[in-house]
Amino acid sequence: MKLDFKILCLRKKYPFTISGHTTTVYPVVFVQISHEGQVGFGEACPGYYFDETVEKIVTFLDLLDLQQFKNPDQIEAILEYVDSKDAGCTAAKASIDMALHDLQGKLKQKPCYSFFSVNPDGMPLTSYTLGMDTPDMIRKKLSEASGFKIIKVKLGGADDKGIIKTVREETALPITVDANQGWKSKEEALEMIHWLNEQNVLFIEQPMPKENWKEHGWLKARSPLPIIADEAVLRLRDIERINDSYDGFNIKMVKCTGMREGYLMIQRAKELGLKTMIGCMGESSNSILAAASIAPLCDWVDLDSPWLIADNPFEDPDLKEGKIILSDRPGLGLITRNRSYHAS
Ligand code: MG
Repeated sequence: MKLDFKILCLRKKYPFTISGHTTTVYPVVFVQISHEGQVGFGEACPGYYFDETVEKIVTFLDLLDLQQFKNPDQIEAILEYVDSKDAGCTAAKASIDMALHDLQGKLKQKPCYSFFSVNPDGMPLTSYTLGMDTPDMIRKKLSEASGFKIIKVKLGGADDKGIIKTVREETALPITVDANQGWKSKEEALEMIHWLNEQNVLFIEQPMPKENWKEHGWLKARSPLPIIADEAVLRLRDIERINDSYDGFNIKMVKCTGMREGYLMIQRAKELGLKTMIGCMGESSNSILAAASIAPLCDWVDLDSPWLIADNPFEDPDLKEGKIILSDRPGLGLITRNRSYHAS
């Protein structure tokens, strides 16, 4: 098997602001693994809050020797080898995981979701995310989001209630809230959550800083809405400690090293009685269709980034009545949009 990769810059359609962070253009590493005339695609989008950069991803990928493995059927052994090369680099590891699954699917002529016994008919609605914006921009973005049936709103700033009031003037759709660690005290968080509970909000993601385990436990015991960990949970090993502090967690390919470990996290969550959502950073259809392949096993889905970026190198996933439709094409089912998209 041969590994190639290249860096592409993806642009947001509009500047995207969350608590403490704004994104416009960002580099992403795209991976290709070739075997017997087929090519599997993977994507490493560096996460801003766990110290991964494009430079680190490239250094990590350069370390790997996949030639020692005969074929992608050795996926367990390959992914264990990849995981052993560095304690971090989760987005880079995810790119290998998804490229291998895509390749395996193409060689076997099966869609990736079939490897996880997923029924594509069980796909939950996916949310459309609004960054922190002016009322005019919120209205403009909502007018472009008519295909979505749940709205995710980024809070944790100076005018949280104003943002929700603007959204509510435009739509009665269910809302999910992500504070991105932005609420500074448990009392402030609880007061906001009681107010949000009156606004048809489904759950709250990462209300306070990820280090505040005890405060989140206090909040969970009093909150009328589920409290979901995002920044506080990266991988399978992080799940065991969350039960006292959160009702569930957000799985992302870039955090959890890909589909294989994401699937194991969902299984463990079911054993522990935890809720799961599956989300994204700013990835293209590549990472999104990898996540979507296991998304029907989750309670909530937030896989909207292809619709938030301007230069997706692949076709957007099919979206019907607010749900991503998994195709029966082999592998991840990606369709290359940009003719110049080839790894060098
Ligand atoms: Mg989040």
